[in-house]
Amino acid sequence: MVRKNRQNNRAFKNTMKEKKETYTFVEAFNKVDELRAIENTSMSDYVIKMQEEVGEIAESHLMITGYKPMKNPVSKNKATQINHEKEHLAEEAVDSIIVGMAILSANGTSQQKIEELLKQKIDKWVSKLVVKKKIKK
Ligand SMILES: [Mg+2]
Repeated sequence: MVRKNRQNNRAFKNTMKEKKETYTFVEAFNKVDELRAIENTSMSDYVIKMQEEVGEIAESHLMITGYKPMKNPVSKNKATQINHEKEHLAEEAVDSIIVGMAILSANGTSQQKIEELLKQKIDKWVSKLVVKKKIKK
């Protein structure tokens, strides 16, 4: 029995080594696109899910700033607790990116169009910062 468990653990570890540890943005979008097609969830469900994720980011931020008490404190040390909550906020922000990708996929928006929009929107942000004299053009 012990030997069998060791073999299973070794096989599991080898499988984990072969699996990719990260996705690029393009790989992530392709995976979300594939999963969304399988799931076939309605656009309105994704929109509501996005609102849920944004709410989770807001709640996490309120806990980091001290406006709201921590839900499940992991430490009595304030800095440790804040760092833990910041990791949680990052998870919620990534959740919202994934749901955003699902919305774009459900909307039928091409990757080319998404890349064009990313450029347009970031350039617009740059222009606003130039007007506010926060950066030089
Ligand atoms: Mg979430």
